[in-house]
Amino acid sequence: MNGKVWLVGAGPGDPSLITVKGLHCIRHADVLVYDRLVCKELLAEVPAGCEMINVGKTPNNHPIPQDEINQILVAQALMGRNVVRLKGGDPYVFGRGGEEVETLAQSGIPFEVIPGITSAIGGLAYAGIPVTHRDHASSFHVITGHLQQGKDPQDWPTLAKLQGTLVILMGMSQIETICQQLIEHGKAASTPAAAVMCASHQVQKIAQGTLATLPQDVLREGIKSPALIVIGNVVQLQKLLQFTPTVMQLDEMIDLSTLAEAF
Ligand code: SAH
Repeated sequence: MNGKVWLVGAGPGDPSLITVKGLHCIRHADVLVYDRLVCKELLAEVPAGCEMINVGKTPNNHPIPQDEINQILVAQALMGRNVVRLKGGDPYVFGRGGEEVETLAQSGIPFEVIPGITSAIGGLAYAGIPVTHRDHASSFHVITGHLQQGKDPQDWPTLAKLQGTLVILMGMSQIETICQQLIEHGKAASTPAAAVMCASHQVQKIAQGTLATLPQDVLREGIKSPALIVIGNVVQLQKLLQFTPTVMQLDEMIDLSTLAEAF
């Protein structure tokens, strides 16, 4: 009999932000397929004998091609195993989760998707930035800073006109272009802006300034990938709304035995 693939969102970093259902899946996995944004505390939750497959980077530091990852999931499920595909944040937010599940669906492999807290919202919250606020932003836009090769460049005139909070993922290598293009196409250079590195991890770090100063602020504070770039008036609330999160151990969290029948 075929196994099943559970596509699980790990949340932004703090391991206790995973869902109850996601943690239960990890604790019952026969094989765990994971990549680099997943924290080690969650990896430690697998049962004894669970096979661990790291598809983040090959030993010579090249990413494993997406087709190959898709085929690993299919092959493992065809062996009758409970496969957990664990991804940082939410699996459908720039995580290529859609591509993986497409392959499973086309191959007739049973699957389930367990959403996670995306860094684009939850990561900002941990940094003291509410993605919307009645006084500051009535919409938000989550944008990738990294485009697939051969695709059109960003539509800067449209992005610059948006009034809501802009959250840019995978944008650190392009931060100067991003800030400069938004200003050139009409966004005020004085718009508050920040970059949050390793949001919700214990090493979380923030650089703050304006659209005009952010590239230098980031350099000064030593902010590197993985980081979120956030542009909009909600950034002004950061100093007031920042907090120190309680550290929770996963086994203190909850008795998961009630979910056991699902497996
Ligand atoms: N599926 C993920 C995003 C994957 S794309 C999610 O929902 O969060 C990877 C990008 O996400 C990184 O380059 C970075 O921009 C952002 N990211 C993910 N986790 C982050 C974190 N803890 N802190 C800051 N940025 C993060």
